[in-house]
Amino acid sequence: MKPKTSTKLVEKRFGKTKDEQIAELNHPMTTIRNDLTPKQREFWWKTAHRVYMTNDRAHKYMVSERGRTANVCKMCNKHKETWQHMEYGCEELQKWLDRLEQIYNEYVKGKEADEWKKPTQDEWRLKENTEMSKDKMMVIAIARWQFHKGWCAINYGTKRRIDVERLAERVEETLTTVREREKRRREEKERQDKERDKQKTDEKENKKRKRGTI
Ligand SMILES: [Zn+2]
Repeated sequence: MKPKTSTKLVEKRFGKTKDEQIAELNHPMTTIRNDLTPKQREFWWKTAHRVYMTNDRAHKYMVSERGRTANVCKMCNKHKETWQHMEYGCEELQKWLDRLEQIYNEYVKGKEADEWKKPTQDEWRLKENTEMSKDKMMVIAIARWQFHKGWCAINYGTKRRIDVERLAERVEETLTTVREREKRRREEKERQDKERDKQKTDEKENKKRKRGTI
């Protein structure tokens, strides 16, 4: 007798369903992939797959010789750190999201750009099907990655508080290198275009010369 193939079984064997895989895609895996460094891409991949351990999960599943990890969020020291809290709900993160307006305005200075609006949760996730300008995506891609580094430092006990101004400086530095890279790419493309045009003109001249029109 043939065994019944339930959806559950298929999922168990082959991992996630297609819809689930699509839901996990984000812009750093697709749209802005080439604008990020391997480390930044790795962070965004892990975020999409929720690889990072929140204190709530650590509390449930991990016991060290010093006992259970506290489930409290070490950023605000007030609430239980669930994924939802860590990703969007924490007031320390919300303060950071407010700070981004200034960073964004600096980043798009002298350019025609959309007005900044505080990112929604889907935007903060850079979800693949969320539409926004590339400038906003880049600010979020770098800002969330840097914030995560601060989160790590606090959770590993190497820092006690998030220094928002220091973090903002780091993000601005990274965004400057992003702009420089963009500029270099643009200049290289212009150089190639010019080269191609020159070749075309030369070929035309050569043809004329052969025909004896010059
Ligand atoms: Zn918190």
